[in-house]
Amino acid sequence: MSAADGKSAPVVVVGAGIVGVCTALYLLREGRRVVLMDRGEPGEGTSFGNGSIITEEAVVPVQTPGILWKVPKMMLDPLGPLALRWQYLPRLAPWLIRFIGASRPQRVEEISIALRALLRGATAAYDPLVKAAGIQDMIKRSGWVSVYETDAGFRGYQPMLELQRRRGVKLEVLSAPELRQLEPALAPIFKHGVFYPDVSYTVDNFRFVQELAAAFVGLGGIIRRETVSGFERADGGVSAVLTDQGRTACEAVVIAAGAWSKTLTAMLDCRPPLDTERGYHLTLPSPGVSPRLPVYSTERGFVCTPLENGLRVAGTVELGGLDKAPDWRRAEVLFENASRWYPGLDRKDETKWMGYRPSMPDSLPVIDRAPHHHNAYLAFGHGHCGLSLAARTGELIAGMIAGRESGIDMAPYRADRF
Ligand SMILES: Cc1cc2nc3c(=O)[nH]c(=O)nc-3n(C[C@H](O)[C@H](O)[C@H](O)COP(=O)(O)OP(=O)(O)OC[C@H]3O[C@@H](n4cnc5c(N)ncnc54)[C@H](O)[C@@H]3O)c2cc1C
Repeated sequence: MSAADGKSAPVVVVGAGIVGVCTALYLLREGRRVVLMDRGEPGEGTSFGNGSIITEEAVVPVQTPGILWKVPKMMLDPLGPLALRWQYLPRLAPWLIRFIGASRPQRVEEISIALRALLRGATAAYDPLVKAAGIQDMIKRSGWVSVYETDAGFRGYQPMLELQRRRGVKLEVLSAPELRQLEPALAPIFKHGVFYPDVSYTVDNFRFVQELAAAFVGLGGIIRRETVSGFERADGGVSAVLTDQGRTACEAVVIAAGAWSKTLTAMLDCRPPLDTERGYHLTLPSPGVSPRLPVYSTERGFVCTPLENGLRVAGTVELGGLDKAPDWRRAEVLFENASRWYPGLDRKDETKWMGYRPSMPDSLPVIDRAPHHHNAYLAFGHGHCGLSLAARTGELIAGMIAGRESGIDMAPYRADRF
């Protein structure tokens, strides 16, 4: 559709993951015409298999102080919680140098402030969307608990707890008996726990995206299954989106293509250092245990979330790019860890998955207008927090397109900040 049809050209959102779908919904709320394009079905990218957690407490970046000394172990232990496929090192090097640079204590402090500014209100930003879709019951406001098997592990995490406290994160430190009372399904192997009340989860993250996408269509949005291959440019902006199916004139374009966004932004002369932190999951449809709330291990880097279709065991980080085959031994490690937590865990009919977190080296997303194109907008790089921050991102991008002030300092999320 174009202006020649008598209607204004639409805003085209590229990528129907959770970020693109929420952005498209917020744009509809602004009264825009919106076309959402994806090469697959909504939610089939990284949003398909995450841990289902919507968190407001994630103010600690991945690259904490001292990460540099962990790099040799990352390269030598392919099954560790944070691993690096050494064959990928030459391509990863520029990202890795920035990642390590972002772990300086002063930078970590600044990054946590920027994360907090986005995360505050992340759940509330979903309210109008889930209401429009009639799926309020898909979000459970249970809180979550992080658990520590050793005193040393808990002691080691104290600086991060202090960082969370400085950012005003609500948390409650639990003794071993208090933890058992909160979550009786856990084996009594933990020395400490920390309960975070401001954490929610969705009972099925994939159905969640699909329901929101269906609401988008119900409200007049258009979804097209097309692979975006380029842009037509005119007068310092983007005049049309080019795909394997043809050309769509646009009023504006939003690139929300997750870990694949870099190829598209390069066509707009914008090259943010986006890479991927690969993660794995197992979904156990009949786990034989009934946890009351999600449980997270910072020591081992994974979460167990009770979904409507089983127990999701998800997490770990593997720096290995977009092309290499999955290392399913990592999924095995997830099962071994989870079965220590929940003795007798049943893996009958389990499914496994690997996905690509879209990650910037400083753990902050890109939420910005493209530096060289006045009507191209960028919404990607949400790393570990894409589900948590999708609605908030959609709200901010829609506000940006409408020319409204965000009320927060947007400089930390700029595409050209490196
Ligand atoms: C194991 C694991 C656990 C996680 N747990 C959590 C969690 O509990 N909470 C949380 O907040 N986050 C979590 N995350 C992170 C979260 O899943 C991601 O940040 C989020 O899904 C990113 O969403 P997105 O919409 O940006 O990308 P995606 O969901 O990947 O969507 C991008 C879309 O763009 C499309 N696309 C790409 N290129 C093109 C093109 N050229 N043309 C057309 N379409 C294109 C793709 O097909 C895809 O559908 C986890 C991630 C992993 C891997």
